[in-house]
Amino acid sequence: MANSKYEYVRAFEHDDNLLPNTWIVVRIDGRGFHRFSDRYKFQKPNDERALNLMNAAACAVVRDLPDLIIAYGVSDEYSKLVTTIVSTFTAHYVYLWPSFFPTPLEPEFLPSFDGRAVQYPSVRNLRDYMSWRQADCHINNLYNTTFWSLILRGGMSNTEAENRLQGTVSGDKNEILFSQFGINYNNEPEMYKKGSVVFRDYEIKPQTEKNDGGTSSKEGDFDTGEEGPPSEMSKSQIAKLRKMQKKATVVIRHVDIIKDEFWEQRPWILSNKPGKLPAVD
Ligand code: ATP
Ligand code: ATP
Ligand code: MG
Ligand code: MG
Repeated sequence: MANSKYEYVRAFEHDDNLLPNTWIVVRIDGRGFHRFSDRYKFQKPNDERALNLMNAAACAVVRDLPDLIIAYGVSDEYSKLVTTIVSTFTAHYVYLWPSFFPTPLEPEFLPSFDGRAVQYPSVRNLRDYMSWRQADCHINNLYNTTFWSLILRGGMSNTEAENRLQGTVSGDKNEILFSQFGINYNNEPEMYKKGSVVFRDYEIKPQTEKNDGGTSSKEGDFDTGEEGPPSEMSKSQIAKLRKMQKKATVVIRHVDIIKDEFWEQRPWILSNKPGKLPAVD
């Protein structure tokens, strides 16, 4: 088989190498979900079942792929990483659909997702990326909540609602919601306002000076003493880390990820070294 005259095409199959020691963010987005959500009658603006289904699929992906949220380039292949995550996500989405929606999926209207990978070289970049997404979630949700209130409760057409909201700032939208519909935006569900963050949950430990990076704790085994990629860990250290990650529960939270508090309380997310606080550079 080897050395056939056709084999030269293999040269076209080049590796998409990722930079080592960076944060790889894979962003998944439903393809044509505007139409898809119409077809399956998602409630507007937020269909809770659809959001819970996305969350369940995301949890399943994190459970399935132990490399996720290990920050430092375990995987070095861009295309492999993206396709694996996206196809795993889609598989779970389809599998879990009946647990969330009464109508079965139709072969002509099946869900699919695109995925892109972006690399961020620092914790600051990564946190800014997450902050950007959460700020976007807030802006979109405030807009959509007001937009759909005007339509569903205010009797406006889509165009009228759009015109009404043209040029408004968030204060105006809060005011419309409150004065016209008696809605206090602050009391809207956290999942709608803040989105969902999925991560492995470990015990939140009070940080003491002695405890940071100490070898007495089990977690200390993974502390290489510096901010290095996993390649600096021995095979047995990696195996131990895997074991701990498998035991950890994957949780969904709807909390502020822009402020420091979320990250400071869960140092394992950014350090991949439970028990040690990472430095935000
Ligand atoms: P593309 O294929 O370019 O991503 P799209 O049709 O998926 O196009 P998006 O900009 O990704 O458009 O927006 C997704 C759309 O899906 C939203 O605008 C909304 O109409 C709908 N949608 C997604 N999730 C929900 C949900 N939980 N509840 C209600 N509508 C939803
Ligand atoms: P991203 O892909 O970055 O998450 P998005 O475009 O998918 O962003 P959505 O919540 O899907 O974000 O869309 C929000 C924007 O779409 C709003 O700012 C608003 O301008 C517009 N929008 C949402 N629903 C409607 C609608 N039914 N009719 C007209 N415009 C809408
Ligand atoms: Mg979108
Ligand atoms: Mg989409």
